[in-house]
Amino acid sequence: MNIYLITGGAGFIGSNYISTLINNKKNKIIVIDKLSYAGNIKNLKHFILKKNFKFIKTNIGNKKVITKILRKYQPNYIVNFAAETHVDTSILFPNRFALNNVYHSVSFLNDALNYWQNIDSFSKKKFRFIQISTDEVYGCLKKNEMPFTEKSNLNPRNPYSSSKAAFDHFVLSYFNTYGMPNIITRCSNNFGKNQNLEKLIPMCINKLNLNKKIPIYGNGSQIRDWLHVLDHCKVINLIIKKGKKGEVYNIGNSNEIKNIELVKMICKIFDRIKPLTNFQHSSLIYYVKDRLGHDTRYSINPSKIKKEFNWSSKKNFKIELENTVKFYINNK
Ligand code: NAD
Repeated sequence: MNIYLITGGAGFIGSNYISTLINNKKNKIIVIDKLSYAGNIKNLKHFILKKNFKFIKTNIGNKKVITKILRKYQPNYIVNFAAETHVDTSILFPNRFALNNVYHSVSFLNDALNYWQNIDSFSKKKFRFIQISTDEVYGCLKKNEMPFTEKSNLNPRNPYSSSKAAFDHFVLSYFNTYGMPNIITRCSNNFGKNQNLEKLIPMCINKLNLNKKIPIYGNGSQIRDWLHVLDHCKVINLIIKKGKKGEVYNIGNSNEIKNIELVKMICKIFDRIKPLTNFQHSSLIYYVKDRLGHDTRYSINPSKIKKEFNWSSKKNFKIELENTVKFYINNK
């Protein structure tokens, strides 16, 4: 039996991650989520009646509840997705990100450390704490600069990425200080089902579906490296099995696309599957004042996961983008 404690499981990536584990009866899955505006209990609807699944609504910073959960369910693996994740919100309310992504997260790490230190030696050896971080902690790249490797310096440039980088330092320092078997993943932009409508791809699809205008920051020239969410989740499973304690693994797809090009691709999909008689969907695009401190380019070098786990992306970007469009159209 493998017992997983998954935090932030009602969110976008967490709920997709559960789908990679749930059908194996040897896996028991305990999900905790505080159900913030970004957490959606409906993302768990396919799992809730399964015998190997349990959902508990709580904040990861609630020491009393977390201690009880750890003692009761004795997880082998903790996969920590829980975080405030929207850059725009972090610019408006940075304190919220410091509190949630650093203070509450460190409290959770302490509880996990305490749990790990007090389990039997077999379970202790098997245990892993996987921190789901982000490529944004590295800051941003100029056009001709090489993609970030695991050795790149951390240079976060907005309150969201700063809060993620701060907690990454705690996670790695707990490996060095206490020997806690922690691993960090830093993934590029994910896309797929169950993402909150505040994020670029679902926002764009939702607007197009309602024939509403699509706001684009600045001139839309920012570049992101897009990876399908299930490709990301599969790497997490490889890391749990084969990853080395105290390591960082970058996860990327070498699939750099300008925001405006991505939005135009989505418009073209709409032109095909929901054609309009009078105009093309791209005419709904309009430009708004750029986001403060908007990072121009993210790109991740995935050589380490390719070399160590023989990993490659299995999902075709264009096909999955169309599937994603259809998902949001069918799940208003
Ligand atoms: P999301 O906003 O969709 O989901 C986050 C979930 O965490 C929500 O369900 C929320 O309710 C929950 N949560 C937040 N704080 C919590 C707390 N203190 N206690 C309990 N639950 C809490 O985010 P996502 O896009 O699924 O991202 C998941 C993780 O992956 C985040 O840590 C994010 O930094 C990281 N990440 C995301 C991307 C991406 O493209 N979405 C890329 C790389 C890394």
